[in-house]
Amino acid sequence: MSTTQTDKIEINKVATSKINEVDFENLSFGSVFTDHLLECDFKNGEWQKPVIKPYAPFLLDPSARVFHYGQAIFEGMKAYKDEDDSIWLFRPDENFRRFNSSAVRMAMPEVPEEVFMEGLNHLLKLDHEWIKKGLGNTLYIRPFLIATGQGVVANPSDDYKFMIILSPAKAYYSGEVKVLIAEHYSRAANGGIGAAKTAGNYAGQFYPTNLANKEGFQQIIWTDDATHTKLEEAGTMNVFFRINDTLFTAPVSERILDGVTRKSLIDMAKKEGINVEVRPVLVSEIIEAVKNGTLKEIFGAGTAAVVSPISGFSYRNEYFELPKIENSIASQLKDKLTNLQHKLTEDPFGWTVKVS
Ligand SMILES: *Cc1c(COP(=O)(O)O)cnc(C)c1O
Repeated sequence: MSTTQTDKIEINKVATSKINEVDFENLSFGSVFTDHLLECDFKNGEWQKPVIKPYAPFLLDPSARVFHYGQAIFEGMKAYKDEDDSIWLFRPDENFRRFNSSAVRMAMPEVPEEVFMEGLNHLLKLDHEWIKKGLGNTLYIRPFLIATGQGVVANPSDDYKFMIILSPAKAYYSGEVKVLIAEHYSRAANGGIGAAKTAGNYAGQFYPTNLANKEGFQQIIWTDDATHTKLEEAGTMNVFFRINDTLFTAPVSERILDGVTRKSLIDMAKKEGINVEVRPVLVSEIIEAVKNGTLKEIFGAGTAAVVSPISGFSYRNEYFELPKIENSIASQLKDKLTNLQHKLTEDPFGWTVKVS
């Protein structure tokens, strides 16, 4: 193992890469990780020097706060390689900002920009061979922060660990997605943690989603917790509705995560001359629109799947199938966004950032 020390970062490289053991044509999402990870500990009230080291399990005290009180946040980003072998990120500043606002909400220390961004750049350069060229090949980036302090007393930890792990990914097609509109369970509540990318938001969705799976639905469209009349998110994605030729999506709030894909699609659609209305979307208007034939599309938006079309939904035990349409807005926007991310087209928005 070779070690490089600078005053800013320590890099310990693996002796042999495991890249040749990986079948890049048959990757299941989020299951294979690259050779290295970035680690930076927070202790005695300070961030320590970040270290890049071989990907491996690590030890934690059984009383570490993350296991008991769920102080854990994360991000989801992607890196892309263009035809000239340059590596690109998509709006990484947005993820960095959101990471730290999640940290604040969970009473955790904010991660400095040098640790997050420079650490990520070093890590990507080191594991650059894991990013394959071509549309559909990406490297999924998972930064996370956990409370490592010992003791089961119910207050915030003093110690934390920040890490970034990387997972090569193929474009994934979710297949037919049928959804159930939530009438009882909620993902988020006013004054709660729905706008933070925190582990517990996901844990809380698993049980109601399992129940929906048993009824033949892949996901749940979450509604507002107080009245269950407004459509807010689709599973762990933001959600768009197309009525006639207008796209509708809810404004972000304490209950709705401020997705980077969501806001990029809004700007892109507007630039294409598509009418976009950001306002609360009511269950009743979607039911009316599906009944009178004006509801054309529903799709989820998020980094992992980019755009995920929904084929139908159930509300109060009634199932509504959406029409199958050629050249959907969902597929047009997905193509435009992925082409831009892979540097196959111009980026008039200045969203792509080169790793150097
Ligand atoms: C991560 C996430 C999204 C999508 O955000 P992107 O920045 O587009 O990846 C949407 N909703 C929830 C609840 C999420 O956790």
